[in-house]
Amino acid sequence: MSTTYEPGAAPAGFIPLCVPVIQGNEWTYVKDCLDTGWVSSVGNYVDKFEAQVAQAAGTPYAVAVATGTAALHIALLVAGVEADDEVLISTLTFIAPANAIRYCGAHPIFVDAEPRYWQMDVQRVADFLQEDCTFINGEVRNKATGRRVKAIVPVDILGHPVDMQPLLALAEQYHLVIVEDSTESLGATYYQKPVGSLSHIACYSFNGNKLITTGGGGMIVTHNAAWAKRAKYLTTQAKDDPLEYEHGEVGYNYRLTNIQAALGCAQMEQLPEYLAAKRRIAATYNEALGTMPGITGFPQAPYAESARWMYTLLIDDSITGIHSRDVLHLLEKERIQTRPLWQPLHLSKAFPGAQVLGGQVAEKLNQQGLSLPCSVNLSSDNQETVIDAVIRCIQAVAQPVR
Ligand SMILES: *Cc1c(COP(=O)(O)O)cnc(C)c1O
Repeated sequence: MSTTYEPGAAPAGFIPLCVPVIQGNEWTYVKDCLDTGWVSSVGNYVDKFEAQVAQAAGTPYAVAVATGTAALHIALLVAGVEADDEVLISTLTFIAPANAIRYCGAHPIFVDAEPRYWQMDVQRVADFLQEDCTFINGEVRNKATGRRVKAIVPVDILGHPVDMQPLLALAEQYHLVIVEDSTESLGATYYQKPVGSLSHIACYSFNGNKLITTGGGGMIVTHNAAWAKRAKYLTTQAKDDPLEYEHGEVGYNYRLTNIQAALGCAQMEQLPEYLAAKRRIAATYNEALGTMPGITGFPQAPYAESARWMYTLLIDDSITGIHSRDVLHLLEKERIQTRPLWQPLHLSKAFPGAQVLGGQVAEKLNQQGLSLPCSVNLSSDNQETVIDAVIRCIQAVAQPVR
């Protein structure tokens, strides 16, 4: 595994994987917070940032929270996930959404990826619900465990949406809630509709490596007014009376500060520009590398316009003769930072004994996947350097042509 790059600490000549770009009104808005003293968890920027993200997500409501992980935790609670429930979730993902399921006392059931676009395999969800569950009195129960299955967490990995239409049909048929993890896919669309607007409730992240950053932060978006209100309530310690310190239940302090929101407001102004950059970078890599034997470029489904958040390609070592991890180490020597895809969560020590539907596709993607430098300010010179280095790695081991 490559180490995480610390923003601002990049030595000259080093090409980092994906770093924040601060070039708009960030200084102005943060200074405004400092000048006015509105630095903490309420303020104009929190409200403004919520409105901006709601607009981008195509939902009437947005609730700002401290992290994407906190957003997922609260969204699952609001959606009615309880202790001992089960939740279907992509196995090929960053670990945060599966952790959030455990914070609720619920259990993940891991779903394999489909091979074309690398997203949750919706057919596996359908087969599981049909064959391995009972559906009685509006409740799904897993025959293997007897537990109630309550929700589905599709994760739009790498900026690309999951195939939502069939998933929504299943959710309706089986009375399940969809809590979408769109933390990597802000700005992506599914049949022209923004990700996050299609599910019952969805979550974004504004961590440092995401498309838009607040340093750290998250957002819950939904069409459901009552759910939005409850999310705000739970993230503010379930406070009933602002004067008397009366609380209706055990809540959380998951608020985003006005300073972070100020950063977010400035970043959101640059969203169209950032998306265009990500898409241009992806197109250039795909053109230069995607047609090499044994290389699969970053795919995009006909139903989608991907945010192209994290440019990733597959290297099939049975054809190229070199494994993706060896390419990673060779590029590291050339001061180019790359990284593999996540360990599929059904193999993680964090979830021993968890049920998995398939898993082989995710395992193969984990072995073959390599993410390349794709910061929105990646220069074309630096991108050329990366492309040349990848080509040299692969040609160095290629069989000589006689
Ligand atoms: C980044 C990320 C999160 C969590 O976001 P944080 O803001 O870091 O808590 C959740 N899910 C996925 C898929 C992510 O990539």
